[in-house]
Amino acid sequence: MGFTAVVGTQWGDEGKGRFVDYLAESAGMVVRYQGGNNAGHTVVNEHGTFKLHLIPSGIFRKGCVCLMGPGMVVSLSGLLAEMDELTAGGIDLSGLRISERAHLVMPYHIALDKADEAFRKHGKIGSTLKGIAWAYADKALRVGIRAGDLRDMESLKAKVAKGVELHNRWIVQLYGQEPLAEKAVLDEVLAAAARLKDLVVDSVPLIRHARLTNMNVLLEGQLGTMRDLDWGDYPWVTSSSPVPGGAAVGAGIPPQEIKRSVGVVKAYTTSVGEGPLPSELNDESGLSLREIGMEYGATTGRPRRCGWFDALPVRRSVEVGGVTELALTKLDVLDSFPSLKICTAYEKDGAQTLEMPFALEGWKPVYEEMPGWREPTRHVRRWEDLPAAAQAYVKRIEELCGAPIRFVSVGPGREELVTL
Ligand code: GDP
Repeated sequence: MGFTAVVGTQWGDEGKGRFVDYLAESAGMVVRYQGGNNAGHTVVNEHGTFKLHLIPSGIFRKGCVCLMGPGMVVSLSGLLAEMDELTAGGIDLSGLRISERAHLVMPYHIALDKADEAFRKHGKIGSTLKGIAWAYADKALRVGIRAGDLRDMESLKAKVAKGVELHNRWIVQLYGQEPLAEKAVLDEVLAAAARLKDLVVDSVPLIRHARLTNMNVLLEGQLGTMRDLDWGDYPWVTSSSPVPGGAAVGAGIPPQEIKRSVGVVKAYTTSVGEGPLPSELNDESGLSLREIGMEYGATTGRPRRCGWFDALPVRRSVEVGGVTELALTKLDVLDSFPSLKICTAYEKDGAQTLEMPFALEGWKPVYEEMPGWREPTRHVRRWEDLPAAAQAYVKRIEELCGAPIRFVSVGPGREELVTL
């Protein structure tokens, strides 16, 4: 089967974690290829309910190597907290590895993130305040510190001291905030280094071994296409590339090896944070979607904005990402709605478009309406047992988005799934 990317096709929170957890049954390795602990996956399985922010969702499968890839930015304190939580839940972490090329999110990145978001009186980005954009900015500025640096304490101390000095200048002179104490930062980083340095590896031999043994490898994305730095609704985007192309770079996989890309798509739309959302519902239906779908952020607890299904972002994801199949999630959340709308185009100043606009601001949804099914679906495991109206809804989404739907999930549990 080779390499399979599992990516988000909307604004994130589509349910990628549950699909990685499911597909990991036959995988020898799961690689997270971008992002940091600014978003999370919720995974429900026989071990319990877990919120993962950094650790790949294959960690629940025995013998599965879980690599935090070169394209990630890793918060040391975040990672240690997540490891402790999983260990307390009885999960074996022996498969966990960190690429030496992954960048570290430092305490000064978090301080700068908070200072900057507070400074933006207008035009807030809706940052999760985890320092992610600042860590990626340092990577591009070539002043970042990488996981591989955790192995050499002396040089690490020097890099941290230099980092604190540089960033304190920004913190104090640009934002008028208190500087960070070098010793506190050093103590935190050195303590984390002592615990994590043995997990740090060169990922290339791992990937080579996977290729040579024809291992099934999952490439796990974070967020979705609408948050992609290049393909999202800029500037309401993240600082990395969730699309499958990002997996080639961020995990170190030759692009032609990624033959399968599973686009995870929610049966309606949600987004957390700022930025335009054409099919957003600020009414009873929107509230119902939030409450029934339990749409609250896994990382921040922020209520998610909810709306009708919007085909344009998903079609865009299929096209620019090369998504080969779709996995539709949360169909059960729609069980009680008497009728459903699907956004098939956008409209502005009397003109309609089927293309994703340069900027979403000001575009309104053009809807078509379909009947709901008004009966529970959570127990359903076979396509033919889904109500006819639910089948019609799924098939219409497939038609509009341009890729076959191979899975429909009807509950958060591993087995609450229909395969097509
Ligand atoms: P991810 O970041 O894309 O993995 O998504 P999140 O984990 O943030 O959000 C997906 C949420 O939906 C999680 O709480 C899942 O347990 C839940 N979920 C996933 N699939 C289904 C489904 O088919 N039905 C219901 N009701 N919940 C689901």
